Amino acid sequence: MIQKTVTLLGCTGSIGTQSLDVIKMQGYRVFGLAAHTRVELLMEQIQQFHPQVIVVTDSTAAEKMQTLLDGLSNPPKLWKGKEGLIQLASHPDAGIVLNAVVGIAGLGATLAAIESGHDVALANKESLVTGGSLVVEAVKKHGVHLLPVDSEHSAIFQCLQDAHSAKTLEKVLLTASGGPFFGKKREELEGMTKADALKHPNWAMGAKITIDSSTLMNKGLELIEAVWLFDLPPEKVEVVVQRQSIIHSMVQFSDKSILAQLGVPDMRIPIQYALTWPDRFPSPAPELDFSTLKQITFDTADEETFRCLAACKKAIAKGGLAPCAANGANEEAVKLFLEDKIGFLDIGRLVEGVVDSDSFGKSYTLADVYDCDRMAREYVRSQL
Ligand code: NDP
Ligand code: MG
Repeated sequence: MIQKTVTLLGCTGSIGTQSLDVIKMQGYRVFGLAAHTRVELLMEQIQQFHPQVIVVTDSTAAEKMQTLLDGLSNPPKLWKGKEGLIQLASHPDAGIVLNAVVGIAGLGATLAAIESGHDVALANKESLVTGGSLVVEAVKKHGVHLLPVDSEHSAIFQCLQDAHSAKTLEKVLLTASGGPFFGKKREELEGMTKADALKHPNWAMGAKITIDSSTLMNKGLELIEAVWLFDLPPEKVEVVVQRQSIIHSMVQFSDKSILAQLGVPDMRIPIQYALTWPDRFPSPAPELDFSTLKQITFDTADEETFRCLAACKKAIAKGGLAPCAANGANEEAVKLFLEDKIGFLDIGRLVEGVVDSDSFGKSYTLADVYDCDRMAREYVRSQL
C-alpha cells in the first residue's frame, strides 16, 4: 500500500463522506478537511481522521466550530472563510487535493491547489465549467495531474489509459441516467415539486446535483467538463441515455472500436481511482451482479423538454464566459427552486435566457469569471 496524503474540501457532503470511506480503506493520511456549515459532522471526522488543519467557510459555523474545538486536547488549526479554503488548498503539505465543494465556490481552491503544485482529484465540475481555460492552462503550466472524480469522466479517463489508442480518440459517449423525469413532456413537468425532483433513480447525491440531474443541467455541465478535460470539440461529446447507470461512459476510436467502463453506481469507485491512479486496489464498493442485472438500455436525450442541456450546448459553442453564465444562472435558479420561489421549468428557461442574453467574449481572467457569475445571478433575480 502506498501512503498518500489527502486534503479533502467539501468533506461533509455526499462525495466528501464517501471519499473518507475510501481514504479509510486505503489507509491514507488526511492533512486538511474543509466544510461549510455541518460542524458536528466535521467534529466526528476530526476525531476519526486527525487532520492538522480544518477550514469552516461559513462565518457563523466557524464560530461554533471554535467552541467545539475548545473541548479537544490536541485540536487541529482552524482557518476560516474563503481565504482559509484557498490557504488550505495551497499548503505545501496538502498532498493530493480532492475538491468536493459544490458550485463555483470550489473554483478558487482548484486553481490555488494547482498553482501550488498539487495534483487535484476533481469532483467540483463547476471549476471547469466556469473557469475551464484558467484551470487547463494552470495544469499545463504547473505540470500537475487533474484526476476526474465525476463517474462519467472517470470512465472516459479509464478507457483512455492506453496512450497509444488514446491518440486516435474520435468521440466520447457520455452516458446519462435521464433522471427521475425521463420520458416526461413539458406539460407533465410544469407542476413538479422539489420533492419529485429530489428522487434520483440510481444515485444518492447532494441536493444541487440531484436537481441538476432532474433538469439534465448536470449532463450539460458534464459535457462542458468533458470538453475541457479531454481537449475535445463539443460536437465530439455525444450524450447517450443509459437508464440503469451501469455503463458510466464510453470512448470511440478512429477504427470505430468502442470501449466502455461498467460497474455498480457507487461513487466510491471513481473517487478511489482518482486517488490511487494509476494503481488499482480493492474497493469498498460491491461488485456488479450480472445475474440480477436483466438489461442495459439506451435512449436519446430529449433536449426540447430538458432545455438546460440544450442551453449548455449553446453555451460551450459560444465559448468564453457563456458556460460560466449558464452555471451561475443555474446555481441561482436551483436555489430559488429549492426555496419554492420558482417552478421546475423556470430553471431551463432562465439558464437558456442568460446564454442568449450576451455574446460573452472569448478570453477571460478570474475576475471576469466572478463578474460574469454575479451578472448571471442578477439576471435570474431580475426575472422573478
Ligand atoms: P453536497 O451538497 O452533498 O456537499 C457539498 C460540500 O461542499 C459540503 O461539504 C458543503 O459543506 C460544502 N460547501 C457548500 N457550499 C460551500 C461553499 N460556499 N464554500 C465551501 N464549501 C461549501 O454536494 P455533493 O457531494 O453531491 O457534490 C459535490 C461536488 O461533486 C459537486 O460539484 C457535484 O457536482 C460533484 N459530483 C457529485 C456527485 C455525487 O454523487 N454526489 C457525483 C459527481 C460529481 P457543508 O455540508 O458543511 O455545508
Ligand atoms: Mg456524473
